[in-house]
Amino acid sequence: MKVVTRFAPSPTGFLHIGGARTALYNWLYAKHHEKFGDGGKFLLRIEDTDRKRSTDEAVDAIFDGMSWLGLDWDGEAVSQYSRVERHKEAVQQLIDSGNAYPCYCSPEELTEMRELAKSEGRSMRYDGRWRNRDPSEAPQGVDPVMRLKAPLDGETVIADLVQGDVRVDNSQMDDMVLLRADGTPTYMLAVVVDDHDMEVTHVIRGDDHLTNAFRQVQLYRALGWDVPEFAHISLIHGPDGAKMSKRHGALGVDAYRDQGFLPEALRNYLLRLGWSHGDDEIISTDQAIEWFDLSNVGKSAAQFDFAKLTNINGHYIRTCDNDVLVELVLPELAKMFDGKLADEVSGRLKMGMSQLKERAKTLLELIESAKFFAECRPLNLTEKASNTLNSEALDHLSELCKQLDESSEWTADQLKQQVHTFAESSGLKLGKVAQPLRAALTGTTTSPGDIFHLMEIFGRDETLGRLNDALSRA
Ligand code: GLU
Repeated sequence: MKVVTRFAPSPTGFLHIGGARTALYNWLYAKHHEKFGDGGKFLLRIEDTDRKRSTDEAVDAIFDGMSWLGLDWDGEAVSQYSRVERHKEAVQQLIDSGNAYPCYCSPEELTEMRELAKSEGRSMRYDGRWRNRDPSEAPQGVDPVMRLKAPLDGETVIADLVQGDVRVDNSQMDDMVLLRADGTPTYMLAVVVDDHDMEVTHVIRGDDHLTNAFRQVQLYRALGWDVPEFAHISLIHGPDGAKMSKRHGALGVDAYRDQGFLPEALRNYLLRLGWSHGDDEIISTDQAIEWFDLSNVGKSAAQFDFAKLTNINGHYIRTCDNDVLVELVLPELAKMFDGKLADEVSGRLKMGMSQLKERAKTLLELIESAKFFAECRPLNLTEKASNTLNSEALDHLSELCKQLDESSEWTADQLKQQVHTFAESSGLKLGKVAQPLRAALTGTTTSPGDIFHLMEIFGRDETLGRLNDALSRA
């Protein structure tokens, strides 16, 4: 069977982290069937019927988030708002077949129904008073809403691919509104008509929509359309067990990007947050496409674990191609140094990246640790670096500088040997020389990387320049 999935976000100004996971699962399911089944398509529909919230920026934020995460969709994204006429047409079809009717209830009558329900301790249900009433009884000058003539008895059952069979007595559901009095379609109507027209076979979404699914199934049936498969995935909860919200920190994927997470790391993390393949933690996209199946999606709520995401990110940084990392780090360093980056910086980063990336868990850490490669002389020294460069250390450095100046070669191996020999002949432990060297060369005492390798990367002139800057501070 050819599989068509879709992601149907409402624009909120960012791509929500939970939405990103929903999008990922839909994308993977479609890709899996494209590669290993009878075909798969992943569609994007922007549910932009709330005109106040659906600004161009809010819609772009979704496109940006999806693109950054590498979740490409087939064809053009569909605007739900642009399909209003088609939604109305479907209601006309329902009216013609006797499955929908106008309801002229006044706001006062609805309030009465609500109050009654409240006093009886149940949730509000429209009592169907216009269901079989003759339209000739319609009050003058009142625009009706259009309601679905829902089944009164029996039950509606959903064989949910994640939640299992879920059922509700039809007597628990009222005749839902399809078109409001101003003629605008409700979400419940629009989503069914759009999913049908887009030939969606699998609706994979958050389980906050599970109760909507019952109504949507009733609507499919009334329209005489095939009901798609449903898979309602549990919501993401924060570390305290409550539904993920602003107080848990970043909500939009853009915030994760800004905090230095790689898209492949976030993808891997979101995949594992609610889906498993044995004990595998690091799962490449190709493996994910091969392995992804809805039967391995967990039923219970997934808890967001920032530390785990950070560790996974560290893994992806360590295994990321050095040139790719350099391209990510360079523009950030340029920003940091007001766009003034020495020409050599890119080359230095390329040579130093293997060592830099070993310790960084986020791109921000990587950028921070790469700063000394880009800094112009004279460096700003940290307090610790400054303390390391005391007068005794500077005396040694001064001696060492003279020797280095005369060295014929400039490779890490040769420099290492030279510094070792210098330390030995001066009766010093290596650290007594290496620490001031590091402080003078990087401005810190904690920079990553082998100091001799750093000297090779900087080259003779820059190394001696930095050392002499330190000496002249005395
Ligand atoms: N637009 C809805 C939302 O953002 C999703 C609707 C659906 O997936 O059916 O929550």
